[in-house]
Amino acid sequence: MNQRPRILIIYTGGTIGMIEDSETKALKPFDFSHLMENVPKVKMLDYEIDNIQFDPPIDSSDMDPSHWQQIARSIAENYDDYDGFVVLHGTDTMAYTASALSFMLCNLSKPVIITGSQLPIGEVRTDGEENLITALQIAAARNSDGTPTVREVAILFENYLWRGNRSTKRSADNFNAFKSNNYPELAKIGLGIHFYHDALYPLHHKAPLEPRYDLDTNVMAIDLFPGLNHEVLRHMLNTPHVKGIVLRTYGAGNGPTWKWFIDAIRETVKRGVVVLNVTQCVNGGVHANRYMGGDLLAGIGVVSGHDMTFEAAITKMMFLFGLGLDAAEVARRLPLPLAGELTLNPHTCPPHS
Ligand code: ASP
Repeated sequence: MNQRPRILIIYTGGTIGMIEDSETKALKPFDFSHLMENVPKVKMLDYEIDNIQFDPPIDSSDMDPSHWQQIARSIAENYDDYDGFVVLHGTDTMAYTASALSFMLCNLSKPVIITGSQLPIGEVRTDGEENLITALQIAAARNSDGTPTVREVAILFENYLWRGNRSTKRSADNFNAFKSNNYPELAKIGLGIHFYHDALYPLHHKAPLEPRYDLDTNVMAIDLFPGLNHEVLRHMLNTPHVKGIVLRTYGAGNGPTWKWFIDAIRETVKRGVVVLNVTQCVNGGVHANRYMGGDLLAGIGVVSGHDMTFEAAITKMMFLFGLGLDAAEVARRLPLPLAGELTLNPHTCPPHS
């Protein structure tokens, strides 16, 4: 147990490893050896560190579920050989990847720490060096009994560690680029790393990791706004092959009370499409019965997403349909927590379809 911590870094790309294109001056992903050459201090950590890199590394705007499968496979295939995993990733879609991995890595009991940076690692004022080193330290952190301190997918950025499936990118400029608006921080990073043990995901199982790789992308989102007209809404609701829709509503899960609107959503639900209500607000959640609009939606079978982020809601839909479940079962499971993504009691892993 006094062995050096063994950490696997999975480098997917993102600003942290980017360099400037000499012609266009735009930032483009670059290779992992360049990144590590710029962080010589990593050697001061007495860890055994290995790496896997995406070939080629990508801007995270190019991420899609096949990349999430690639990351999940890299973790699952190396799970027993490492104490923790650090995923280097662009910030743009980091919260989506964190949410998806939290569902795919069922029964996770080791740290998966995702980080990146706002400035490339080669720049003088980069935040990448500090983020990478802190992520490695968190991935190696142990409780006094030798068990890992973090046993979930988390995002480390600047001063905070956040639960991955509660996080949202909140700033394109600030070094504290992420926030979890409905759940407290898991750790505060200052002179030291202070973990909030009550907030960390509890280990309530002894089961082995059970990765689930299949994701179904026949899902979409509809954002409500005043002026959304009948024809536009009908077109969206009738998009071919769509099995689930995340409806981004106002305030506490509220929407218009107009008859055409409610009829259109009712018909969609009746056709067997799952409609999930999440709020457009950054903080708080759906309280469907507080206002008439939300109450009407709940009455026609729209499912409450409680206080889930949009990133968690859409990836959870892909995950549940990916299990091969029918619409009724997906609708039943969406409001139940799988990996701490909403504020209810933890639910057990879904059985194989
Ligand atoms: N466009 C970059 C990416 O998401 C932004 C970043 O890494 O901060 O890959």
